[in-house]
Amino acid sequence: MAAAAMTRTQLRGELRFNEPMAAHLSWRAGGCARCYFVPADLDDVAVLLAALPEDETVLWHGLGSNTLVRDGGFNGTVIATQGIMQELERLENNRVRAGAGVSSAKLARFCARANLVGAEFFAGIPGLVGGALAMNAGAFGGETWPHVVEVETIDRQGRRHTRAADEFRVGYRHVEGPANEWFTAALFRFETGDGEQAAAGVRSLLARRAQTQPTGTANCGSVFVNPPNDHAARLIEACGLKGTRIGGAVVSEKHANFIINDDNASASDIEALIELVRRTVERQQHVRLRTEVRIVGEPQA
Ligand SMILES: Cc1cc2nc3c(=O)[nH]c(=O)nc-3n(C[C@H](O)[C@H](O)[C@H](O)COP(=O)(O)OP(=O)(O)OC[C@H]3O[C@@H](n4cnc5c(N)ncnc54)[C@H](O)[C@@H]3O)c2cc1C
Repeated sequence: MAAAAMTRTQLRGELRFNEPMAAHLSWRAGGCARCYFVPADLDDVAVLLAALPEDETVLWHGLGSNTLVRDGGFNGTVIATQGIMQELERLENNRVRAGAGVSSAKLARFCARANLVGAEFFAGIPGLVGGALAMNAGAFGGETWPHVVEVETIDRQGRRHTRAADEFRVGYRHVEGPANEWFTAALFRFETGDGEQAAAGVRSLLARRAQTQPTGTANCGSVFVNPPNDHAARLIEACGLKGTRIGGAVVSEKHANFIINDDNASASDIEALIELVRRTVERQQHVRLRTEVRIVGEPQA
């Protein structure tokens, strides 16, 4: 990549080529990124963005807990956000400013310690604040965006913006805002309350997860979003799909909306199983499931 090579000397972070993405995805499967940038900080990201060719595809990457990269790889630049944008502070009026690189779990614990309630649901979501903003992540009745006052973003040219929450169209696991902008921080508002109670809430939500989800396995959480007034897991289970396998990928016996990589699955095993589940549910239950996980890249040639 000529432009990146030109700017390499200006970059303080690490620019890697042909980076195996399986190491960065909770499914532990998938192809390589042509270019993978581990920035020193946000200014470093701005330098890279400004120098990239206009037609270069850019993928922001948190903890990869909701992403699958196909086996043929991602033909663009991945920006790794873990380790940068770590600011986390309590402000007046029950507000918390969190960098996009803070983990959702850390945000939940921070709020409980600050005697703020409403952030407990973040505790079990194994991603970063940036991923939670992009996905409108939620659990147990809580969701990210109802707590957002404003967000900070960076655009394709490396310019920073502050945007009010109402500049985004937000739905269930769906967020739409200005094109080619990515989240760098968010200002949240929570309620004041009893921190001890919030911490107990966190513990109880984590215990519920351990009971209902295949913890300790390589998976991406819920593969499909729930259709209106129903649960994807219920529909999948009703089709008898628990335990169905393609290659090393298998539908979890514990939670039917989870697909586990239990034996060196390729991304194409996982995607083929996703499509098998989708087709079967459509045929038997007359509901077309929509994936929650983001699938990017090219199939294996
Ligand atoms: C065991 C398990 C349980 C889960 N439970 C839940 C749950 O209860 N509720 C829930 O909602 N999700 C759940 N998930 C899914 C996932 O954890 C969430 O969607 C999480 O918010 C994704 O964060 P991430 O940092 O891993 O994002 P990634 O997978 O790295 O990225 C997800 C998407 O966000 C984009 N993105 C990442 N960072 C940014 C940024 N800074 N700016 C703009 N776009 C960005 C990426 O390009 C990608 O499209 C679960 C996953 C697992 C593995």
